[in-house]
Amino acid sequence: MASWGQTADTEDPARAVPLAVWTSDAARAGLGRTPSRGHTDPMADNIEDLGNDVFHVDTRMGGYDGITSGYLIRGSRPCLVETGTAKSADVVVRALAELGVGPDDLSTIVVTHIHLDHAGGVGDIAEAFPHAQVVVQEKGARHLADPSRLVASARRVFGDDMDRLFGDLRAVPQHRLVTVGDVGSIDLGDGRRLDAFHNPGHASHHVGLLDSETGDLYTGDAAGVYVPETADVRPATPPPDFDLDLTLSSLARMRDAGAQRLLFSHFGPVTDVAGTLERSEEELRLWVEEVAAVHAVEPDVDHAIAMVRDRDRERNRSFYSDESRTLKFEELSSVAANVKGIIRWLDNRDQG
Ligand SMILES: [Zn+2]
Repeated sequence: MASWGQTADTEDPARAVPLAVWTSDAARAGLGRTPSRGHTDPMADNIEDLGNDVFHVDTRMGGYDGITSGYLIRGSRPCLVETGTAKSADVVVRALAELGVGPDDLSTIVVTHIHLDHAGGVGDIAEAFPHAQVVVQEKGARHLADPSRLVASARRVFGDDMDRLFGDLRAVPQHRLVTVGDVGSIDLGDGRRLDAFHNPGHASHHVGLLDSETGDLYTGDAAGVYVPETADVRPATPPPDFDLDLTLSSLARMRDAGAQRLLFSHFGPVTDVAGTLERSEEELRLWVEEVAAVHAVEPDVDHAIAMVRDRDRERNRSFYSDESRTLKFEELSSVAANVKGIIRWLDNRDQG
């Protein structure tokens, strides 16, 4: 997930093209080629074939394996879902090349939201694939066109870790941006679509993406963080946007989407759709209840973080059994950030 300051605002986002429903056939007719095939074996160890022309690419945030996912839907109009960080751009470009998608071949880059572990590389990837349009929810668009505020607030939160984990965001040229509102649709070619729907809660501008052919639902961070080694689902509730009520509504929307599989951005595919979304909701409610209980008697934030971490450690022994795993997920989605996000939401709610 990764957390930082100022993205929750109500300012008009759209110097970008405000299209609620989008297909780009007319605009893009003739651009791009059908990607070359047949030289993809053996694949690099950060690429996994998920079937139906869907490939999972480990984008390796901060050099870690197994915490940040990107996905290529290859098809006749190849689409990349999530770019990973700016520092991951080379990893992603190499993976796409290996999958037969060269500089002229990518049609679409879509990000579930603009946090740097999902969209930090979007400017670099847009430059590497000059014909691809960049799809983002309308509230996030202006931060991709002008990332200065996003980068500044991330620097405030991450300090020296900023360069190690993320690198700098490059701007996406305005004319490359296409926005979606409550819903939108990306043309994957041959009648296949990636249908976007607004699912705020983790971030105000978050979208879910449903593959019309496979029923794959790209969850971004809207259903939390899935830990494949232990099948835990952990919360993703950072400041400033986290909102419990919106997150629960978005979880309901995801449950009703008829998905066949969840493709988490952290990390990878999960086939138990109903069970995993249920688990996500349970864990989220538990964290909010715990934070609310501790915060009610002791307003000190560090105290709340320590208490919640202790209880989490007791309750989720398998997750904490491997220190290196705990550390890498802590870099991505720390207990401290989650607690702070929940406290911010509680305080805002109580004020009014
Ligand atoms: Zn994330």
